[in-house]
Amino acid sequence: MRFLKNLAKSILTRLAYHYGHHRRQHHEPKLWILMYHRILPTDDPRYHIEEPGMVVTPETFEMHLQEIKRYFTVMRLQDWVDAQESGAQLPLKTCVVTFDDGWMDNFEYALPLLKKHQVPATLFAVAEKIDTSFQFWPNMVMWLLFNAGETFLQQDPLLGKYYPQDKSIIDREFAAEYIRKLKGLSDKDIFTALARIKEQSNLLQAMPRALMNWNELKQMQNSGLVDIGSHTCSHKRLTHHLGTEELQHEIIQSRELLESQLEQKINLFCFPNGDYNRIALDLVAATYKAAVTTQKGIVTYNNFSLHELKRIGLHQQVSGTKRDFGARLSGI
Ligand SMILES: [Zn+2]
Repeated sequence: MRFLKNLAKSILTRLAYHYGHHRRQHHEPKLWILMYHRILPTDDPRYHIEEPGMVVTPETFEMHLQEIKRYFTVMRLQDWVDAQESGAQLPLKTCVVTFDDGWMDNFEYALPLLKKHQVPATLFAVAEKIDTSFQFWPNMVMWLLFNAGETFLQQDPLLGKYYPQDKSIIDREFAAEYIRKLKGLSDKDIFTALARIKEQSNLLQAMPRALMNWNELKQMQNSGLVDIGSHTCSHKRLTHHLGTEELQHEIIQSRELLESQLEQKINLFCFPNGDYNRIALDLVAATYKAAVTTQKGIVTYNNFSLHELKRIGLHQQVSGTKRDFGARLSGI
């Protein structure tokens, strides 16, 4: 059964790679927005405290840059938005590269490759977390699991309740299952629990810095290749949990903070976790020229919303070879 499933998958991947939308002639403009989070080599210790769905290696990322130059007109997202607004003619197959969050590894590993291949990109920064020791909670959980800190998680009154009891080996699969369970809780409750653990142990203090500082972000910007957009102030999900005031803070203040630090207009926005309610969407539409989501797909010119742009998420498992990457781009 498994053999048949793998065979079917391999045939489909092959078909998608050879005959997908990225290979075909088009009569109306289409836009592929690629979504990346982290770029890390497998021998970097940070690779192992990251969820598999969040990371590609520098080698894979470079292969992607070479492949998109073969199939697409590679543009800045800002330029595509401006061109469609002014009614200018758009290329039939455009591709743009985006990064979420503002990870330090984007500065270390992605920027040199963007420069080498002269590919522009947009980076969505979590404005109030730039230049701080902020950590995303899944990384904190993984750090504890992989640094002999699991008893702190097991003994925590909240996090202990979700600790997988049926497995004894702590590996990335175990961590992924635990994190999946914890995602049912609010971010606030999880951060409060992790703050309790921080009081009991120095383990979390030793984590490597996650996000860029202002200097690094400015170097990205000054490369002339990277535009910065807002990814809110603190990466809160913009859903019904937030009041109007908090939504305004996340959406409007993040823009102001980035504009004052970077001395540049900020026109693009990215919804954390792809979540938003109607009020958040309206506020984003009133504040920014365009916004990207985590909804999967290719943007077709006759059917898209400028503040709900679809993207194609990429990570190592689904895009480590040219064929897998092509299948991911195929739209099939
Ligand atoms: Zn994010």
